[in-house]
Amino acid sequence: MKIKAVHLYVMRIPLRTPFKTALRTVEAMENLVVTLETDEGALGYGEAPPTAVITGDTIPSIAGAIRDFLAPKLIGLEVERLDALHAALDAAMVHNTSAKAAVEIALYDLWGKRWNAPLYQLLGGAKRELETDLTISVNAPEEMARDAADAVKRGFRILKVKVGTDAALDLARLKAVREAAGPEAVLRVDANQGWTMREAVRLISAIEDAGLNPELVEQPVKADDIDGLRYVTSRVYTPILADESVFSPQDAANILSTRAADLVNIKLMKTGGLHGAMAIASIAEAFRAECMMGCMLEGNIAVTAAAHAAMARNVITRIDLDGPALCRENPVVGGASFTGSRIALPDAPGLGIERVEGLEPLRF
Ligand code: MG
Repeated sequence: MKIKAVHLYVMRIPLRTPFKTALRTVEAMENLVVTLETDEGALGYGEAPPTAVITGDTIPSIAGAIRDFLAPKLIGLEVERLDALHAALDAAMVHNTSAKAAVEIALYDLWGKRWNAPLYQLLGGAKRELETDLTISVNAPEEMARDAADAVKRGFRILKVKVGTDAALDLARLKAVREAAGPEAVLRVDANQGWTMREAVRLISAIEDAGLNPELVEQPVKADDIDGLRYVTSRVYTPILADESVFSPQDAANILSTRAADLVNIKLMKTGGLHGAMAIASIAEAFRAECMMGCMLEGNIAVTAAAHAAMARNVITRIDLDGPALCRENPVVGGASFTGSRIALPDAPGLGIERVEGLEPLRF
């Protein structure tokens, strides 16, 4: 099974409510979709969202990287030679992790189709239930309380609470969310780099003193401030999760070996796909740390790939794959299915995606 052609599309999906973090506000999902076509007529699906504030990517930058650098290296290569395919992608260009992830997800989809098995099985996993959290966007405390109550009603037990736009308001936001969600809800607090290291220690200590009991606090300080991250981690009781600070397996090794954070958030768009994600899972195992499998504003192609990876590795104990749950509709037929917070995967080969409706061919 050889790769014959690469096709690029845009997938547009309206969100239920605007997605707001300390870094950005997004009204609708608009992601690049790539399909790889083989000489036997099989199609592999991949996807990447343009997350300029985290990965530096835009739709044209992802599309250009694929069209001009990655696709030419793949045409004519055998699908089953994953090692050679990785080497080709890595040799083509540095960085550009979202473009590589989109292509690499499509390669793994084809690899699963080649061996006629679901991806999680080929990656060494067995079927287990995944329970995702749901993002509560950063807004006024009353609005966040309403969103939290709605999320609990929709069947979500774990909430990812976005803060970090205004340190003076963040404690009030968390109190309002805890009150609305109830004592049983699991709260994951994500500051998206919005605090200074001293602000973070003061706020997290206040959150602890107020009995708000968050499960963890994610990325309190700037992505490149590893000393600041370590400062916070060593001064609070609440576990600290590194997200924007960890792109590569090297980043994960550096952070875990120096105890700059307790856990790491793996996202395919930061690692450049499943190969890097699996490497981070192995590094976390070596340091006896646990991982979250997260996503950017990803639709059900990239999230399905992340769910397969999560199902394959027990060290991935926390799931933040709520992209499709934030959408008003799902144009992806097959792939991961959501029942409230529960994610199930089909037994079909590869990602298990049958088709994607409403794709617009990308012209640029
Ligand atoms: Mg995060």
